[in-house]
Amino acid sequence: MPCPTTYNKTMRVRDPKKRAKDFKEVALGLTAKQAIKEAQRCLQCKKPKCVEGCPVEIDIPRFISSIRDNNFLAGLKTIREYNLLPAICGRVCPQENQCQGACILGRKKTPISIGALERFAADYEAAINETETVEIAKPNGHKVAVIGSGPAGLTVAADLAKLGYDITIFEALHEPGGVLVYGIPEFRLPKKIIQREIEYLKSLGVKIKVNWVVGKTQTVDQLFEEGYKAAFVGVGAGSPRYMNIPGENLNNVYFASEFLTRVNLMKAEQFPKYDTPVKRAEKVAVVGAGNVAMDAARTAQRLGAKEVYIVYRRTEHEMPSRAEEVEHAEEEGIKFEFLSNPKEIIGDEKGYVKAIKCDKMVLCEPDASGRRRPDCSGEEFTLDVDQVIMAIGQTSNPILTKSIKGLKLWGAGYIEIDENGKTNKPGIFAGGDIATGAATVISAMGAGKRAARSINEYVMTLAKAPRQRKKSSKTAK
Ligand code: FAD
Ligand code: SF4
Repeated sequence: MPCPTTYNKTMRVRDPKKRAKDFKEVALGLTAKQAIKEAQRCLQCKKPKCVEGCPVEIDIPRFISSIRDNNFLAGLKTIREYNLLPAICGRVCPQENQCQGACILGRKKTPISIGALERFAADYEAAINETETVEIAKPNGHKVAVIGSGPAGLTVAADLAKLGYDITIFEALHEPGGVLVYGIPEFRLPKKIIQREIEYLKSLGVKIKVNWVVGKTQTVDQLFEEGYKAAFVGVGAGSPRYMNIPGENLNNVYFASEFLTRVNLMKAEQFPKYDTPVKRAEKVAVVGAGNVAMDAARTAQRLGAKEVYIVYRRTEHEMPSRAEEVEHAEEEGIKFEFLSNPKEIIGDEKGYVKAIKCDKMVLCEPDASGRRRPDCSGEEFTLDVDQVIMAIGQTSNPILTKSIKGLKLWGAGYIEIDENGKTNKPGIFAGGDIATGAATVISAMGAGKRAARSINEYVMTLAKAPRQRKKSSKTAK
């Protein structure tokens, strides 16, 4: 099912039958021998298309040539010049649509497995327990607040800390990492990898305050009163989106992020050892076909479900999920109900889910998204299930945005920014999913990088202003 030209299967993976029963990582990465062999295939193009395809423009040929020459740490150093989270991006970036999708070799045969090489370099460093030391500028005395600790916030914090800023991250949840910790499951992205990146950030001097809902615990204005010179808003898009069909309020209908948070962050699979329960269903319907849907389906299966269905209104060709995740889900026995659009969730006499009724769809002309628009065929069918998980997308949470008076928003409450991450409010910057709508880890990091540059310019201009004012008043005398 996944695209054969841009999806490179160099990576070793665990046996589907075994891995579908536990939460250990599915992909095992490359051995050093495999990594060198893969790196040797790279043509070291003069005008590398792969770099054009990378949202943070990593010098891909340079890092690959270091791996080819058995200098793995030098390869990692090159990646880190552009990307703070290589072990994470190597695992979850949609490379088949980005660097790998653009690799010249993909035109005729298999593209270089750039993501696997990125992951290899980062895992090598972790395995030998080395941590790269970076140069940090002397403290400049300026405080900047970073709100939200997802990939956007973490990137802003790291880039500004390296420039000498005094950075505090304010995070609403009890653990930092954003979707990386509460959304993406352990079998795709082990928590210890995120913890390592967070420790690295702390080693740069970044402070993290958790259980801190900015907009409720404290407002942005109050942060400015405490001496913060600028604030970056990277609060993601974590609010549920529902279909508004009958039965959505029945027991055992979950919103995917809530379901995943219960398991990933609250360890619900170990209930009652941990306080949070979660339904362990027999038959599950997951509505949607993006990464979130695949994660929810595979998690439900690991909790013991015998049958898990992905219910999607289009076909396999329009699925937004990463090709690799779809293939892994299929191998693990997830079933796909394409051209199926839920119209009602049916409950039993006690208010618990017992089935989901769907319209059978046909595809018509492409809609605004460029994908063929699904329309009802007139037929319907019913699936007997005891749990439904809604994974049809997330939207902005208004807690913070509503607390900033006059902040310009667009669409469903996303923050309007310019190309440098500036909002219409002086000193307030934003980026990641809260500015773009639900997107990707690497696009949130790219936004973080641009915003960090912009914040630095803003604070430096602000710092010079009083001196300039003093100078010009002296000249006037
Ligand atoms: P987030 O990661 O959402 O982080 C925002 C943080 O802000 C959260 O920790 C939140 O608790 C905190 N916050 C919110 N409100 C407040 C407040 N008022 N005060 C303080 N803190 C607050 N992308 C990929 O590239 N590859 C994938 O494989 C992939 N899989 C995904 C799987 C799932 C289940 C989900 C949900 C998303 C996935 N994505 C994937 C998308 C990707 O994770 C997001 O695009 C990315 O995390 C956005 O980063 P962010 O920093 O903008 O926000
Ligand atoms: Fe190597 Fe492919 Fe990039 Fe060319 S486009 S430098 S072959 S990874």
